[in-house]
Amino acid sequence: EQLDAVCVGCGSPLQSEDEQAPGFVPNSAVGKANVLCRRCFRIRNYGEFLPVQVSERDYQEQVAQIFDNPGLVLYVIDVFDLSGSLVPNLARFVMNSEVVVVVNKVDLLPKGIHYEALSDWILEQVRATRVEAQEVLFVSAATTEGMTRLFHRVNGVTDKPIYVVGMANTGKSTLLNAIAKRFEVQNDPYTVSRRPGTTLALSKFQVEGPTGSITFVDTPGLVHGTRVIDRLCADCLKRAVPDARIRPRVYQLNPEQTLFLGGFARLDFEAGVRQPIVLYISNQLPVHRSKLERADNIWEQHRDDILEVPCGACRSSFDDLKALPIQSTRTRERVPNGTIPVSGRGRDIVIPGLGWITLSGAAFRGRLWLPNWLEPVLRPRLV
Ligand code: GDP
Repeated sequence: EQLDAVCVGCGSPLQSEDEQAPGFVPNSAVGKANVLCRRCFRIRNYGEFLPVQVSERDYQEQVAQIFDNPGLVLYVIDVFDLSGSLVPNLARFVMNSEVVVVVNKVDLLPKGIHYEALSDWILEQVRATRVEAQEVLFVSAATTEGMTRLFHRVNGVTDKPIYVVGMANTGKSTLLNAIAKRFEVQNDPYTVSRRPGTTLALSKFQVEGPTGSITFVDTPGLVHGTRVIDRLCADCLKRAVPDARIRPRVYQLNPEQTLFLGGFARLDFEAGVRQPIVLYISNQLPVHRSKLERADNIWEQHRDDILEVPCGACRSSFDDLKALPIQSTRTRERVPNGTIPVSGRGRDIVIPGLGWITLSGAAFRGRLWLPNWLEPVLRPRLV
């Protein structure tokens, strides 16, 4: 059925096909007057923020409002998927705002992380996109770990809006809910701006801080479409994406052995010295060690019974692998182009969305196999 009405809360055209898209209403609301879309309904009635996802074009239009009315931007990043959290073209919209990078989901990180090194690395990656962030805050919106520092940071910001920006699934809604709860917002706390005709107006809420009222502005979440999480069913997600603190898994690997990270990645150790390889990935993801000479056979014959994830239905996205040479160098010896270099101090090889592999820096020559659309990222060791 064609709906031509708009939500009286946010102005999004009403539709009942896509629950994730703006303006969704259940079929039962079709044809009624003064309808709120489900998102606005829940915001109004339960004081609850829900993720909303929009197309890239609508997204740009939304965030352009930040440029017109600059403020403080809380840029929410998923600690497990930094490259997948970077918002395309954000720089030009926030160039006149202050930007604080809020690194979320730190409850998943293992113990013993060097937060300073992580912070430096994240700032470097964010600045490489020309977003001039000055500060990194580590939080868990889910456990509220680190949230006190965030509240201190925003408490005095009474003279300009605070925008919460982030790609879909970085935890932006969870963060907003945690903020609302901290300030104990009750009784119709959220004013959802009325802007009929726009795809979705930015929704705002005000809270009373120690020195005056603070305005938070929610922005939609942009869907990447090219992350691991975008390509998995619910069951595979549960096993592949970390949802509890990661317990590092250490493998003493000999040359001519292979490690499989489920059916997502494969690390071949061709030559070098026996050494510990540490995996920081979901505790639920099966890891299999085999002889290198058996590895092709396992990949071809045993993805269901040994590697298990992704399932047969999700597998097509992960079928075509590329092999990236890896080489550790104790000296300043050059590695061939296209090779992943591992320095003497070791390196984390990050597989965005899945976790990372730490190589110790001991002599290693081998290959990392990854889905051909997934780019690994090198990082100094965090642990
Ligand atoms: P949004 O799309 O950015 O609004 O993200 P949501 O708030 O809907 O969160 C996306 C997913 O990440 C959900 O499965 C949340 O439960 C999860 N999540 C959000 N914040 C945290 C966090 O601090 N820690 C963990 N472990 N998971 C989180």
